[in-house]
Amino acid sequence: MAENKKKKTMGLSTKIFIALLAGALLGVGIHYFLPEGYVRDTIIIEGVFYVVGQGFIRLMQMLVVPLVFCSLVCGSMAIGDTKTLGKVGIKTVLFYLFTTALAVIIALSVAYLINPGIGLDMDAVQTTEISTTAESTSMVDTLLNIIPKNPIESMATGDMLPIIVFSLFVGIMLAKLGSKASTVANFFSEFNDVMMEMTMAIMKIAPIGVFCLIARTFANLGFSAFKPMIKYMGSVTFALIIQCFVIYQILLFVFTRLNPMKFIKKFAPVMGFAFSTATSNATIPMSIDTLHKKMGVSKQISSFTIPLGATVNMDGTSIMQGVAVVFIAQAYGIELTPANLATVVVTATLASIGTAGVPSVGLVTLSMVLASVGLPIEGIALIMGIDRILDMMRTAVNITGDAVCTTIVAHQEKVLDREVFNKE
Ligand code: ASP
Repeated sequence: MAENKKKKTMGLSTKIFIALLAGALLGVGIHYFLPEGYVRDTIIIEGVFYVVGQGFIRLMQMLVVPLVFCSLVCGSMAIGDTKTLGKVGIKTVLFYLFTTALAVIIALSVAYLINPGIGLDMDAVQTTEISTTAESTSMVDTLLNIIPKNPIESMATGDMLPIIVFSLFVGIMLAKLGSKASTVANFFSEFNDVMMEMTMAIMKIAPIGVFCLIARTFANLGFSAFKPMIKYMGSVTFALIIQCFVIYQILLFVFTRLNPMKFIKKFAPVMGFAFSTATSNATIPMSIDTLHKKMGVSKQISSFTIPLGATVNMDGTSIMQGVAVVFIAQAYGIELTPANLATVVVTATLASIGTAGVPSVGLVTLSMVLASVGLPIEGIALIMGIDRILDMMRTAVNITGDAVCTTIVAHQEKVLDREVFNKE
């Protein structure tokens, strides 16, 4: 009985963290102690772990398009007049660009402090063939692609930016029409409730999903996979930590006077989730929900800024790209000039906009950054093998940046409930 009671009071976040830890331990255990073979590889790792983990990611992904669409329609409808929306929009985008550029600068500084690529014997590194089919969309196209030619197509392919533009439009028009379109407006707000309820239901099984995802990663990699690139990984990790726990928290405190420790504590489960899934997109529902329930951030703001951030604001990704540029340049013995470094800041910031919030895309858009300063694209092969774990970390930073910005904007727009934020 007593045990039952205890179980009931254990929060979802605690469960997710226990699952993370247990999954990692089990994964490492399997990697080192369970002999390779059909049972280990096919049944456990690529069977149970893979199916359950991917199943969980799919459940979350299933929600993304309808949830983003409905919540954005409702959000922009609620903000109503285009002036406020425009103000919030511009402020958010500027803030996102600023934090990304800052992230690249930190990444470059850390990389030049640690010099991860110096002493790397290129001959000893096995280069695998990599796909260089990264669509090299030009800047003009990137901008034009924001306007959907066909919103249904964008929804079907999960193309976020055009979906955002379309839903904002729908919301603004609904606000303009007022009672004339009340049936449609009610439909969207009720459908939005349904989506939120569904999120809650799916989140209940998050610990199981997270456990399987992490266990599979570690069972495949073990510890040894990390060794060769430890310096590169160390540099990326260090820069990510500075961005997440120093820069963001200073910004949060300076702009809102809220307690950064509280923010980190309350947002940690979402970071854990982003870490285990490596997709910003899948984190959108949980992020909006946590910001609303635990931190008092109105959905009016978050339903707009979180999906937007998950699409265009990838500070963690741009950190990886900054460090990777230095690492690859050093490995190939190529010197980067100050002008090159400035170019990297600009292109990595743009690459962040073009990086979709799904696993490994940052590695693809890295080719755009490398090309901008004439570095060999084959260099990506050097870091490919260990990118997965970094992808997990940078995704956690990506979505934390979105949440910090959202909290700041909500504070400035006076839709942040400080009482909820400060509650234990
Ligand atoms: N996995 C990252 C995200 O979803 C994107 C990337 O850097 O590959 O935020």
